[in-house]
Amino acid sequence: MTDELTKQQLKAMSSTLDALKAAIESLLESTESGTEPVNLKNNQGRLSRMDELHNQSILLANRNVAKNRLRSVMQAKARLEDGSFGFCLDCEEPITIERLHAYPDAPRCIECQSDSEALR
Ligand SMILES: [Zn+2]
Repeated sequence: MTDELTKQQLKAMSSTLDALKAAIESLLESTESGTEPVNLKNNQGRLSRMDELHNQSILLANRNVAKNRLRSVMQAKARLEDGSFGFCLDCEEPITIERLHAYPDAPRCIECQSDSEALR
């Protein structure tokens, strides 16, 4: 089971998910009130690094996409709580850390994700 996440990795994923949640909430708030830019005052270092990874998708996203992503992040946080985080919802195999770095709220491994996309 060498693919399982260490406590440090889980902690880092928790921080990443919190930052992602805050960024999405800021986006939703700023689009709600109109023209205000997303507020990155708090946790700047973490958020600006996270921005590099996610800026494009978040900025291009409409509010519904942002809300769906927020739900996905909340579900990922719940999986961190119950210990199922990092395991694929379908095949229950560990999701690679590379995939989780790119997509911290990923509910499925890359194989199952491409399977479910192929079914659409
Ligand atoms: Zn899978």
